[in-house]
Amino acid sequence: MTASALKVLKQRLAEAKSIVAFTGAGISTECGVPDFRTPGSPWLENAPIDFARFMADPAMQNEAWRRKFAMDALYAHAKPGPSHKILARLLRDNILHAIITQNIDGLHQASGVPPEKLAQLHGNGTYAACLSCQKHFDLGPLREAFVAYGRVPPCSCGGLLKSATISFGQPMPVATMQQALRWSQACDVFIAIGSSLRVHPAAQLPKLAKQAGACLVILNREATPLDAMADFIWRDEIGTALKFLWPDTPIHPQISSLATVTGES
Ligand SMILES: [Zn+2]
Repeated sequence: MTASALKVLKQRLAEAKSIVAFTGAGISTECGVPDFRTPGSPWLENAPIDFARFMADPAMQNEAWRRKFAMDALYAHAKPGPSHKILARLLRDNILHAIITQNIDGLHQASGVPPEKLAQLHGNGTYAACLSCQKHFDLGPLREAFVAYGRVPPCSCGGLLKSATISFGQPMPVATMQQALRWSQACDVFIAIGSSLRVHPAAQLPKLAKQAGACLVILNREATPLDAMADFIWRDEIGTALKFLWPDTPIHPQISSLATVTGES
């Protein structure tokens, strides 16, 4: 983006009444969380198992947990980076209205974003949930049981436990999608950050925001399928770009543990 376009963008953001941020893997790769799309990604060896196979076969449930714990060992130590902290601070200062994320790493909450300001379209991999009664479970005891017995026990209600993420083929969380849609269609600036904008239905949201009248800003290292409809396209490192856009944002020091089980449902 040219220097003059950047100046116009900063001005547009300064004048905005309601900014919604939509985040994808690019904001978390800066924190060491592997991306599905990077060549050699450990996701290729530990690909999530689709929902139908998980439900149909106990052996697949065990394999899903094996892959889940293998991936957690690689990145569960990840902490929110400067970009997460800048967005959290912008929310606290009411400069940002809400965050919609495709990420399952829990780093937005860990940076202090309250649940009512966050729509996690693909769930959250930092805890497990019962597929029948929706009760939440900390992963630590489940990992211990898996190591000891090769399987994760069922919920006390008899339901299957699963990482609280939305697997391929699993229905999207209706209330979360509706909230994300409302935010997208009510904002005047929608800024997509670090998303390839190729995973649907999440990638519909920037389009719907634009159609509802928002200014669409796409900040990503690579081109996206929605670039043609964007008002501003900025191909750069996320951290560099956010620091440029909001240079005076002090980063809040309060960081909660990634292992915290959140109270959301
Ligand atoms: Zn249950």
